Amino acid sequence: MQQLAERTGAVLRLDLQAVRHNYRLLQNRLGTSRCGAAVKADAYGLGAEQVANVLYQEGCRHFFVAHLEEAIALRPSLPSDAHLIVMHGSPVGCEAEFIAHGCMPVLNSLQQIQDWSALAQRQQQRLPAIVQFDTGMARMGLSAQEVEALQNDPSLYAGIDVQYVMSHLACAEDQHNPMNRQQLERFQALRTLFPGSKATLANSSGIFLGSDFHFDLARPGAALYGVAPVAGQENPLRAVAHLQGRLIQTRDIPAGTGVGYGSTWRSKEASRIATVAVGYADGWLRSLSNRGVAHIAGFEAPMVGNVSMDTITLDVTHIAPTYLQPGTFVDLISATNTVDDVATRANTIGYEILTSLGTRYYREYSDECPAT
Ligand SMILES: *Cc1c(COP(=O)(O)O)cnc(C)c1O
Repeated sequence: MQQLAERTGAVLRLDLQAVRHNYRLLQNRLGTSRCGAAVKADAYGLGAEQVANVLYQEGCRHFFVAHLEEAIALRPSLPSDAHLIVMHGSPVGCEAEFIAHGCMPVLNSLQQIQDWSALAQRQQQRLPAIVQFDTGMARMGLSAQEVEALQNDPSLYAGIDVQYVMSHLACAEDQHNPMNRQQLERFQALRTLFPGSKATLANSSGIFLGSDFHFDLARPGAALYGVAPVAGQENPLRAVAHLQGRLIQTRDIPAGTGVGYGSTWRSKEASRIATVAVGYADGWLRSLSNRGVAHIAGFEAPMVGNVSMDTITLDVTHIAPTYLQPGTFVDLISATNTVDDVATRANTIGYEILTSLGTRYYREYSDECPAT
């Protein structure tokens, strides 16, 4: 269904100029290492096609998605010299689809390696891939023993052109966590078993751990989309997503009135309540009940009562009525209430706020001065 600006309940503004700025900032920090991009989950909910296109224009050539389906959907939007990499690797039996759709798997297990190798031998051609090592996250990739098993029997990966070896950091947003260095050292050791391959380790936060972590290619996602990469430090990235919800109506209630499902908030004094057309069905998490805030003409209004499926309710008692006309837009994600601020109030991370952004929003992309 096509949303229309005039009748929408909420507007999600996506600033592609900010994505460009963030890519340049990260590429700059990486120096001679290349900056790729994680565009999985529809570029964290912001629109994979739009985001990948501007990143390509900025020089990005390595695009990471999680699922094969995501790669198949994105492939037609990208020029053929863009590498499209599927981090989950191939679903069992779907290896040939990678060739049909021009994308490359990350091989995470001996089984995936053997299946990719079998396809290479059937096709009598060398097939490119990335091999992932588990250096301490215990989620994806080969254990140290499995890497050694491969080394002892290279026929296991016959026909595979291991373009990169890869691993993923578990605690990179915490710069003082000893895990970072431990994983780096394990990665450096395992890497020597594939001397001809390039290497990729850093996600967004990994880029800020220093050049030891950069290797040949980084794979940032969140930082490109404005999420703060380093816990407890000022965010150098520019915000990309701006969300406004439409005020539907206001009402005056006496002291002692319960608001919303479960009456979890009760007015202590005579109050004015505004109802806004965004709810948990739009990804406005229910955990923001009685914790979130909105801004109206710059004034902060606390969210009171439980978040409903389609609405939230704000205490606007102290905001002048001229700012409270039905149809007014209320700021939900903004410069004063960033994705990270909203996440803190919702007891989650900016990643979840972005990837939850709803499909009912009217989406408006801006890209003021596209590269030529
Ligand atoms: C999601 C993901 C990334 C990107 O992580 P950010 O923290 O968003 O920069 C990089 N590598 C892997 C393996 C991932 O799953």
